[in-house]
Amino acid sequence: MRKNNKSNIPETFPCEVCGYTMKKFNHVYDNNQYGKTYYKCDNCGHKICKIN
Ligand SMILES: [Zn+2]
Repeated sequence: MRKNNKSNIPETFPCEVCGYTMKKFNHVYDNNQYGKTYYKCDNCGHKICKIN
């Protein structure tokens, strides 16, 4: 079992384009696999990835 390391990854992130709340984007195959978390803005479609 892997330890729970979600605590350092925010569930949401403010969109740097429009200011809307971006949510974790879990529909990409490599989400979390390489130490990255993707976020997608539902308002403008902007995406970012954060290094965990
Ligand atoms: Zn946006």
